[in-house]
Amino acid sequence: MAVPRSADKDLTAIVEVVPEQFFHCFGDGIQWITGCTLGKNNLQLQPLGKFAVTVIEMNSQEGVRISFRAEFLEDFLQWSAVADKAHPQPGYLPRPGEVSMRIQKILERPLSELFSPRHFVGYSVSAPVMDWTHVRCTGCGELVIGRYAHHLGKEAWCPFGWGHRVHGPGPDEGR
Ligand SMILES: [Zn+2]
Repeated sequence: MAVPRSADKDLTAIVEVVPEQFFHCFGDGIQWITGCTLGKNNLQLQPLGKFAVTVIEMNSQEGVRISFRAEFLEDFLQWSAVADKAHPQPGYLPRPGEVSMRIQKILERPLSELFSPRHFVGYSVSAPVMDWTHVRCTGCGELVIGRYAHHLGKEAWCPFGWGHRVHGPGPDEGR
């Protein structure tokens, strides 16, 4: 399966990273390479805490799920410059040029050593259904999509203010 970068919504990418995951920046690379973005609504998040993406060509319904090979990631995580992020050593600094050299070595490796691809046919994925409903939040006055609002009698509250019913941080707080 070889397809051009998504110019419109011809591809959909489903990434499995979560915010607290190391290498969540993987998601940025996916947007850059595939052209699938949050703004185009063809980048979907499936928060599984994994290092994988599935790219689907919408017309042919062909897809490929690509995950990092466990052996590669385990090896990479043992590299001192990465291990230091998990368990910081006082005063540790990578040697000059070490990071760029390591990256270069990775780029020179065959893709099959880095990734494990699985192809799919008949992979149907639906584009998210638009929700045009909205209400104005009693607390902050901002609009919130209808099904994300909490309703209390005639009041509607956005998720930010629901519960304690105080909106914060205010303009001068939280800086
Ligand atoms: Zn609100």
